[in-house]
Amino acid sequence: MGKVTILDTTTKEPITLMGERAGICWGSDTADPKKNYKRGLDCLESGHGRVLEFVNVEMVLDGYSARVIREWYTHLGGAPTRLQASTRYVNYEHFDYILPPKIAKNEEARKLYEETMQTIAEAAGKLERELDIPREDAALVLPLGMTTKIVDKRNVRNLIDMSNQRLCTRTYWEYRELMHDIMNALSAVSEEWAEIVSKCFVPKCELTGYCPEKKSCGRKPKKMPLEG
Ligand SMILES: Cc1cc2nc3c(=O)[nH]c(=O)nc-3n(C[C@H](O)[C@H](O)[C@H](O)COP(=O)(O)OP(=O)(O)OC[C@H]3O[C@@H](n4cnc5c(N)ncnc54)[C@H](O)[C@@H]3O)c2cc1C
Repeated sequence: MGKVTILDTTTKEPITLMGERAGICWGSDTADPKKNYKRGLDCLESGHGRVLEFVNVEMVLDGYSARVIREWYTHLGGAPTRLQASTRYVNYEHFDYILPPKIAKNEEARKLYEETMQTIAEAAGKLERELDIPREDAALVLPLGMTTKIVDKRNVRNLIDMSNQRLCTRTYWEYRELMHDIMNALSAVSEEWAEIVSKCFVPKCELTGYCPEKKSCGRKPKKMPLEG
């Protein structure tokens, strides 16, 4: 099980902050937090996305696979940044790894999977300790299923856009779980976060009203081809 830790530098009252920033440009009274909240909610519901970029999210994602973090890195909009656990300095001789549910419930598959992980761990250790290979080279045998840790910073516009992609049933199962872990962690920060999560963190078919994917799960009708 992975863990999401929301860091203190994350915006506590995101809707109020958005309304305050918008109010500055509209010549409004920004001294009243209630008015700021109302204005922020209006921006959110009207789709004035630029104000979302003032809302900061900084978190630690720990115990998710190197594979899901590789997919995480594809969300580039809004210039997010992150740090990832080093494979040059951290000792991975006893690395943890993700056990996919479909492998967990198939005894033969589980045995093969776990033996493979064990073999990789032994090889990494032997290369480094017995054959004098530097850790940065031995680390190349490490698997995508190995868990890793990142510190991540991005704005909420990027995170909402990510949720629209990654809550889709076509998404890799671990990424969907990660999205739900983030939604739960953010919702626990404040009522405003819970409101943003419930309003905006939805699969893309909820926004379009149809499914744009070739292989649809059937949650929404497929987009009809244009006639003529
Ligand atoms: C089911 C599924 C399968 C996938 N399979 C693969 C795969 O096989 N291989 C692979 O590499 N990736 C794959 N991906 C990842 C996918 O291709 C995208 O890289 C990922 O969804 C992030 O891109 P994004 O546009 O959604 O988000 P972001 O990069 O965060 O962009 C968000 C939005 O910002 C805007 N934006 C971002 N960059 C620019 C820019 N340069 N110029 C103008 N506007 C910009 C656009 O409006 C964009 O929609 C898959 C994703 C899913 C959901």
